[in-house]
Amino acid sequence: MPRTKSSASKRVPRKRKQIQSIKGMHDILPMDSKYWEVFFDKIRAISHTYDYRYMETPVLEKSELFKRAIGDDTDIVSKEMYTFKDKSNENLTLRPEWTASFMRAYIENGLAHQSQPVKVYTHGPLFRRENPQAGRYRQFHQANFEVIGSEKPVMDAELIFVGWNFLKQLGLKDIIVKINSIGTPDSRKEYIDVLVNYFASKKSALNADQKKRLKNNPLRLLDSKDKKLKTLVEQAPQSIDYLDDESHEHFKSVLEFLDEVEVTYQLDHTLVRGLDYYSRTTFEFFAVDPKTGEHSLALGGGGRYDYLAAELGDKSEETAAAAGMALGSERIIEYMKDNGIKPPEEMEIDVYLVQLGELAKKKSLKLFHSLVESGLVAKQSFNRDSIKSQLKQADKNNAKVALILGQKEALEDTILIRDMESGIQEVIPVKNIAQEVRNRIEKGTIIKKKSKK
Ligand code: AMP
Repeated sequence: MPRTKSSASKRVPRKRKQIQSIKGMHDILPMDSKYWEVFFDKIRAISHTYDYRYMETPVLEKSELFKRAIGDDTDIVSKEMYTFKDKSNENLTLRPEWTASFMRAYIENGLAHQSQPVKVYTHGPLFRRENPQAGRYRQFHQANFEVIGSEKPVMDAELIFVGWNFLKQLGLKDIIVKINSIGTPDSRKEYIDVLVNYFASKKSALNADQKKRLKNNPLRLLDSKDKKLKTLVEQAPQSIDYLDDESHEHFKSVLEFLDEVEVTYQLDHTLVRGLDYYSRTTFEFFAVDPKTGEHSLALGGGGRYDYLAAELGDKSEETAAAAGMALGSERIIEYMKDNGIKPPEEMEIDVYLVQLGELAKKKSLKLFHSLVESGLVAKQSFNRDSIKSQLKQADKNNAKVALILGQKEALEDTILIRDMESGIQEVIPVKNIAQEVRNRIEKGTIIKKKSKK
């Protein structure tokens, strides 16, 4: 409820402790609505262009789903999930990502029987109990795309191209895609053995946490943020040298498609993405970090997960190969704000309806509706009473025309039409006003008779 000056608000007890939001969870405020709306609009538009259809899964899932898909030894599952028992003693988790839920839904709803691949997108909140810091929240949002039911490399390239184009359309310029291939589970086994031997021979350089990683999830040593490990990581064996022939061909083909559409990419052998379900292509979008000047700010990422369907119990003879991509909404919007990238302009306003007096206010509700119904882009502020402040709003909104309905006009079924550029206005009949406004805008002559200013 908005604060009003009514006497009711004075009766609220004053000494109550203020309740704050949960640490790491934030509000999206109207000051930022333009950014969020542009984000949604462009996600929807690009999804339609590339034929991704909207899909949604519940915010809560059985904990087992994420444990099995993402893996027990990942940070997400071992430390970051919001898990609790509900009243029937079932372990439930607030989704920390989308892929596992989408694959569960694909199998459960028999989407394998639809035309393949199933290409879907969504947008919404995810939950990870990470250490809150700039660009890192405990509830955050992602736009997510999945292609389930195709192993073709062109689908990996399409996902990357969609993400790349989306970021460009928002006005982000200096973006690169870092890309790698981690092969199939079989080829990865050989690679992991070599990697473990390599790091084991340098064990004295590892701290306790890194030694634990070496034991539980050695691939994660490669995306360590520890500067002391940088040279070791740079010189580590690379997964692309251990790919089976098919994975090698697949990766080559993905890169050729990216060359064709001129996406700027960089091979990065440290990009393993750490979750159990990934296979073959892994990629991330990076922007220049305004603080360091390096391409170190991850805006989104994704990869292929051809073996997840089987892991989640898909009984089909040929389980669904798949690939996906997620774009971090907060990260992208904060990047736009930090770098002075304004959201592309809203739709141009045709007409702003101004009302003055009780009778005019009453009539203007219906009149406004008829303007909108006619297809004109119209705005109003019924809450305001002063003509001056309403005209100021019309000006702020860059309206071409203001329609002013005063007490006299409301009684006489007339209305004042005002050219917002020149400030010149004319009294005209209110009948068929929408058509009249449209005609005048189309002709570029808002005022026919110069009556008053
Ligand atoms: P991930 O699902 O971890 O691959 O993340 C994909 C993208 O989501 C990242 O590149 C970030 O832009 C964003 N992201 C991931 N975790 C967070 C978080 N805790 N808070 C805000 N954005 C996040």
